[in-house]
Amino acid sequence: MAIDWQALRIEGVYRQPHEGFAMQRIKLPAGVLSAEQARGIAEIATAFARGALHLTTRGSIELHWVREENLMAVKGRLSALGLTSRGACGGAVRGVTCASQGSDGFPQVESLARRLQRHFTGNPRFELLPKKFKIGIAADDRNRGHLIQDVGLVLKKTEEGNAACDVWIAGGLGRDPQAGFLLEERVVEGRIIPLIEAVLHVYGAHAHPGKRLKHVVRELGQDSLRKLIAEQPAASMELSPPAGLPDHFVPAAAVSTRLEAPVFAGELSADDLARLAGFAETWAGGWLIVTADQNIAFQVTRDADTARKELSKLGFGSETREEQVSFKICPGNHECRMGLAPTRDVARQIIAALGPVAGAARWAISGCHNSCAQPQLADYGIVVSGLVKGEDGSRSPRFDLYRNQGEGLGDIMKDNLSPEELLDSVRCLG
Ligand code: SF4
Repeated sequence: MAIDWQALRIEGVYRQPHEGFAMQRIKLPAGVLSAEQARGIAEIATAFARGALHLTTRGSIELHWVREENLMAVKGRLSALGLTSRGACGGAVRGVTCASQGSDGFPQVESLARRLQRHFTGNPRFELLPKKFKIGIAADDRNRGHLIQDVGLVLKKTEEGNAACDVWIAGGLGRDPQAGFLLEERVVEGRIIPLIEAVLHVYGAHAHPGKRLKHVVRELGQDSLRKLIAEQPAASMELSPPAGLPDHFVPAAAVSTRLEAPVFAGELSADDLARLAGFAETWAGGWLIVTADQNIAFQVTRDADTARKELSKLGFGSETREEQVSFKICPGNHECRMGLAPTRDVARQIIAALGPVAGAARWAISGCHNSCAQPQLADYGIVVSGLVKGEDGSRSPRFDLYRNQGEGLGDIMKDNLSPEELLDSVRCLG
């Protein structure tokens, strides 16, 4: 029977460009997973995904090269680990991302991310949306990640353990990037879920199929969108503060030291993930964090110097140039159907061409206009903008080079560059 790939998206599954293979994405609230879960994912990757996994720029994990006939077995194994993929792709509330792990506010961020994921995942009222709906939470606004979410939450204060957040909406990248706008300031935690519900109701009612919230604000304008949201009954609701035990597990920054295992392009072997799980058990309270930079971070609770040496012995000592340059890299045409170029190969060439000044900057490359590596947020971003057919019939990629001066989204510096012109431009940056 033919597979309905469109319907499978809600399970976090995309078809790969290679016949018979699929990608399975796994949601991790704020990028956090336990050592037990990491070891379990490593076993699944070994059994079903060629022994490797991909860390995404939204703090999720993807298993590539999963055979269609094994998708159900993978779903069962993930479920047994307490992990979900529901809504990780397709028209649903995606995994809740966080770009400020390791900050003092991270416990509140992790708690909120877990509550949001519990509330919106698998809830039929928030599935079958016109397109994806992304939520991101940050402990501060330094990295500007809140500008590119459908709902971006920025932690502003906590009272008695409860979070209050600025709520930004209607941001997004893709072919026509747009920064989000501030909907409300200092929304108390009890109002955050109802307010997001109100945004989702307006989005579902007013967006054309296949369009994100940013298109609704373009059509209606900010004032009309604000009014429609405010008219929703949920917009003025306030739930009781969360009861019970805290929802955060990563040791707080005040009592721990952050260490990071660099992972080039987020490409990690299953064996290395299992080793990092063991490291987390010994040094970091049993918790790992997939970072927005596609690395694995730990909040180490004792003897950080020895822990750093142990991490280095495992092969994560930040010793190579590829590990030292901050570079977000999407899968490109290595595995993605939309990819126009081999992003990892291009990134390696760029790293080799970088001088000391440009090498200290933050870089990102996306294999198509979807901009999954968030190139408009990096200091320098690259988007593969198209393919040009040569006289011999071969196709060569063209690149747009973005520059972000530290505010909002980056702008195009140079466009339609050949591979050689891109490398020349990179060399000129110093
Ligand atoms: S940016 Fe394009 S090529 Fe890269 S992962 Fe996203 S859709 Fe695929």
